[in-house]
Amino acid sequence: MKRDYAVIGLGRFGGSICQELNQEGMQVLAIDKDEDKINEFKNIASHAVMADSTDEATLRELGIKNIDHVIVAIGDNIQASILTTVVLTDLNIKKITVKAQNDYHEKILNRIGAHQVVHPERDMGKRIARNIISNNILDYLELSDDHSIVEVKVGERMRGKTLVDLDIRANYGCNVVAIKQEKDINVSPAADDVLEEGDILIIIGSDKDISRFEKNLVID
Ligand code: ATP
Repeated sequence: MKRDYAVIGLGRFGGSICQELNQEGMQVLAIDKDEDKINEFKNIASHAVMADSTDEATLRELGIKNIDHVIVAIGDNIQASILTTVVLTDLNIKKITVKAQNDYHEKILNRIGAHQVVHPERDMGKRIARNIISNNILDYLELSDDHSIVEVKVGERMRGKTLVDLDIRANYGCNVVAIKQEKDINVSPAADDVLEEGDILIIIGSDKDISRFEKNLVID
């Protein structure tokens, strides 16, 4: 039977991916070597199987080759995470996403062919730190090591001004991608649009430039 996704490792991270995919109506094959986890997820995943994912024959038997996207969410046991990823790349799985525990783990996963490496604790820590610095910094998405997209609330320093007044590109080297106003999102903001308190700007740029922009125009 063809399934859309497989999640290997049903800890807090893998478990929440599994739940969310299920809620979105996706077919999910859940795999864990722990029987208690399998019992916990048997009504959540389309199919929950107790298995050791480092064993290639077992994964083959489970039909993993028919699945388009496999998420490896084994955390503490780095060796099992790496071995599982090697098996999945050997099986030519179309898309393999793996949770990394630390930078060293991430480097190895990239080297052995994981298509996407996620680092949820580190990324969430960065997002929360930005939000702690200012309530006006709503969200933050890392695009590369030195470029990001941020979502910032228009506060006192930008209220009543237009994009021409602020000249964000010339002054800070960042680009305003869109402006959210209540329920509307304006993806091609005009230079003379007046910003109002509570509008949300979506800005793209280098981390250095975004940081300058935040210090000057966002942080109250
Ligand atoms: P989280 O922070 O998301 O809870 P974690 O970092 O604590 O995760 P672990 O508990 O180490 O992650 O692993 C998540 C799950 O992966 C566990 O339920 C564990 O049983 C399962 N797991 C570990 N190794 C294997 C393996 N070789 N095959 C299948 N499942 C595995």
